[in-house]
Amino acid sequence: MRIGLDYDDLIVDYARALLKYYNDRYPKRRKQLKHLEAYNLQTILDFSTREQYLSFLSDFERSRERKKIKAIKGANQGVLDLHSKSHELFLITDSGIELYDRINERLRLRFPNCFSKIFFTRLYLESYTPKDEICERENIELMCDDNPEVIYKCAARNIKGLIFSRPWNINFDPISQDLTQRVDSWEEIVNHSWLS
Ligand SMILES: [Mg+2]
Repeated sequence: MRIGLDYDDLIVDYARALLKYYNDRYPKRRKQLKHLEAYNLQTILDFSTREQYLSFLSDFERSRERKKIKAIKGANQGVLDLHSKSHELFLITDSGIELYDRINERLRLRFPNCFSKIFFTRLYLESYTPKDEICERENIELMCDDNPEVIYKCAARNIKGLIFSRPWNINFDPISQDLTQRVDSWEEIVNHSWLS
């Protein structure tokens, strides 16, 4: 099966790294993972303008916390397991341009030959291509992501989606069980009936 995998909050723990950076920078506005109940964090993190929020995200992209980001539990083994089951894997990420080299290097070292291709959506840039468009163009049959919007848009193109449970997607309501299902762990991804 041709499977698209997200990077942040599926393979690496973006939210925890972001929170650590945020809490160190704004100790009086401390937040915990459970507080992150929306995908767009501007209001939750108390930024009054979008510009302030985007500037914070861009500072984070260049931070030490971002560079030292840890894996999500089970992700490293999960990717290797999917590869060993002969699935064709494609990484599709919104990560910023500052991270391209680092991500390429990390994937090459940790998952040698596991990814057929790595796609950067170039979010916020003029040449931005949304994940669902990349999935359709590359004939990807299943996308795994923590972002409900990505899963909705893939379903609209008849592409299956597994939503990876995180605090900001607990209210996600699948359009159809045939197209979108929830997984709570990497073990559930690897053993999902769609992949057998
Ligand atoms: Mg993500």
